[in-house]
Amino acid sequence: FLPHLVASVEQVDQTYIMIKPDGVQRGLVGEIISRFEKKGFKLTGLKLFQCPKELAEEHYKDLQSKPFFPKLIEYITSGPVVCMAWEGIGVVASARKLIGATNPLEADPGTIRGDLAVQTGRNVVHGSDSPENGIREIGLWFEDGEVCEWTPVQEPWLKE
Ligand code: GDP
Ligand code: MG
Repeated sequence: FLPHLVASVEQVDQTYIMIKPDGVQRGLVGEIISRFEKKGFKLTGLKLFQCPKELAEEHYKDLQSKPFFPKLIEYITSGPVVCMAWEGIGVVASARKLIGATNPLEADPGTIRGDLAVQTGRNVVHGSDSPENGIREIGLWFEDGEVCEWTPVQEPWLKE
């Protein structure tokens, strides 16, 4: 048992969450934001945005050798997305759990993809896969001054 590892689980992280064009078109913006709000995470950045091709390619650069890469870029740039930054204890891993598996047919019921999507190529939402990528992606999608530091009044009721 290593107490210092428990402390690191309690670390405040940042994650980049994005409602993809299908989520916007299908009117799921409120539903998806609501799940992160209700969990108790703090929204620090939010905008509706038409993503340029170059940014989509940079965001997904680790997947550029995959056969589905051109289709993925076409999908992400096919209409406006909702860009969000969320902050909280363990928010990166927790958001991935709230989102569910990449393939919505394999995502558990109760998760966003499990409840609201059917196909991998139309899986409604993105979430960063590590704290490092959370910071990298927020830096990629938001300009200086677009991310707000603030203290929710409910904070003492969420953190002991
Ligand atoms: P994520 O982290 O769960 O979003 O999954 P990945 O990082 O592996 O892939 C990024 C995104 O690429 C996914 O969310 C899908 O939108 C898309 N994607 C991944 N694998 C496939 C695939 O096999 N086919 C298609 N069409 N899209 C895929
Ligand atoms: Mg990923």
